[in-house]
Amino acid sequence: MNLRDKKLWIFDVDNTLIHDVEHPTPFADALKLWNALTEKNYELAILTNVGRLSSRQVNQAISKAGFMIQTERVFTAGSATAAYIYNRNPNARCFVISEGGAQEDFVARGLNVTNNPPIDYVAVGADRGMTYQELNFATKMVKEGASLLCISGSKDYPGVYLGLDDIFIGELSIVYAIEHATGSKSVVVGKPLPEIFTETVKVLGHQASDAVIIGDNPQSDIAGGNAAGMTTILVQRDPNDIVSFESGDLDTTPIITVQLLDELISKI
Ligand SMILES: [Mg+2]
Repeated sequence: MNLRDKKLWIFDVDNTLIHDVEHPTPFADALKLWNALTEKNYELAILTNVGRLSSRQVNQAISKAGFMIQTERVFTAGSATAAYIYNRNPNARCFVISEGGAQEDFVARGLNVTNNPPIDYVAVGADRGMTYQELNFATKMVKEGASLLCISGSKDYPGVYLGLDDIFIGELSIVYAIEHATGSKSVVVGKPLPEIFTETVKVLGHQASDAVIIGDNPQSDIAGGNAAGMTTILVQRDPNDIVSFESGDLDTTPIITVQLLDELISKI
């Protein structure tokens, strides 16, 4: 395998480029690789499982940390969920739980985001300000036939909210409550769902065989990248900082493993 033949390099964000979007300290080895790829004119993109921030907001966080890219090349779990719905029904009426980020990505995709019935899709992202009424309405709409989507699939995640630096329950935990109340099953739209890797590569005008995905997480970045036919590179960060995702029976073995990302510079 020759990495010089790869045209598109897609990066995870949390625990790969920066610590996480609410603690946006860059990893020095990631900045070195990013700058080396930029100098050599490789195409770069972002695919993050963050759903509470929009593509624009994620881009603000990483650009402050030194990773410069156009917002059109930043794909979030929210923008992936919007594409998933749009590809099936561009006129869908969508009720979205999120901290505003996913709503912004849905509107940017041209979807109808509404708080009133009828609802075709209930899409649930992490939301630390969610109300009982929103959860109850979401449940009612799923009972009435709306499809339930989970924007990314973390049970909990680290963050900072209203001054509190803590671990917060994630979107999957909220979705479990709706599943329990309705008996319906959700579809998780986020890494490792292979469709969003394939879609990202296609939107950027490439094929999976031309693309590399780099991330810290075997269950999300590597499992999905392998299933989509991409070259998968695992960077080994602190295991305590790896968020848990469901990868089912997907293959979580990376093609390449590195301790630090700047080890790759001599191969590009
Ligand atoms: Mg990560």
